[in-house]
Amino acid sequence: MTGQKSAWVSDGTIATHATVHVNLEPSKGMHGTGICVVPLDLPGISKGKPLNKMGQRPLNQGEIFFEEVKIPKKFMVFSDYSISQPLIKGIFTGANTGMSVLFAGLAKAAFDEALKYSRDRVQGGVPIFEHQNIKLKLMNMFTLVESARSLARRTSAFNAANPPGSLPHAVIAKGLSTEAAFKVASEAMQIFGGNGLSKEYCIEKIFRDARASMIEDGTNEALALSGAVFL
Ligand SMILES: Cc1cc2nc3c(=O)[nH]c(=O)nc-3n(C[C@H](O)[C@H](O)[C@H](O)COP(=O)(O)OP(=O)(O)OC[C@H]3O[C@@H](n4cnc5c(N)ncnc54)[C@H](O)[C@@H]3O)c2cc1C
Repeated sequence: MTGQKSAWVSDGTIATHATVHVNLEPSKGMHGTGICVVPLDLPGISKGKPLNKMGQRPLNQGEIFFEEVKIPKKFMVFSDYSISQPLIKGIFTGANTGMSVLFAGLAKAAFDEALKYSRDRVQGGVPIFEHQNIKLKLMNMFTLVESARSLARRTSAFNAANPPGSLPHAVIAKGLSTEAAFKVASEAMQIFGGNGLSKEYCIEKIFRDARASMIEDGTNEALALSGAVFL
């Protein structure tokens, strides 16, 4: 096997083993692909440098290169696309469902931080929470947080009880949660004022992590287009 996985493989530079989606018969496109488990110390495998990115910085990512790597047959898990395709769809559904839960949680964290700060920070003689514009912001943020949490919970419960689950629901739940996390984090930063930009407070990190989530595991736009096929 010869080729390269993108610079974005999570845990790419530190993993000891990888599940690799490989081309077996390129002329058949996706139908000629299979899945194998590869120990990453086989001759011909090398790794790139960890990616230096804006958000989710503790998440290691990097390239894996394959140069004429011979993969023993025993490491091949699926060589028949009709078997691996439902598995890939199931992984896709599970990953998006997980993302929806994670980023509904991040949206709530940003909201909780902003609410607490608004009660502590005094400007104009009162805690800023008492100013109408801040209350309005907080209620709009609360709407987004609770909408994201509701859909994430409903999708998780349905998908856990009905494997392999609903891919369109998983995709919209991921989209709603990650966009809620980003918007709520941005509004939280506004409520923190200048402190929102300072690394002394966690809002700037939440904002950066939330921004990455709209691209992570597929851009929300590309996921929506893929999910629409299964409506
Ligand atoms: C935190 C994080 C973790 C990640 N983890 C992994 C990982 O573990 N493994 C891995 O392989 N990748 C991972 N990625 C990479 C991620 O999956 C890709 O960055 C993402 O799928 C977008 O692909 P791209 O960067 O090549 O952008 P492109 O595909 O070049 O897209 C660029 C823009 O064009 C749009 N676009 C692209 N194609 C179309 C189309 N056909 N129709 C309409 N619009 C289109 C996109 O929506 C986007 O706005 C991760 C990314 C992040 C941020």
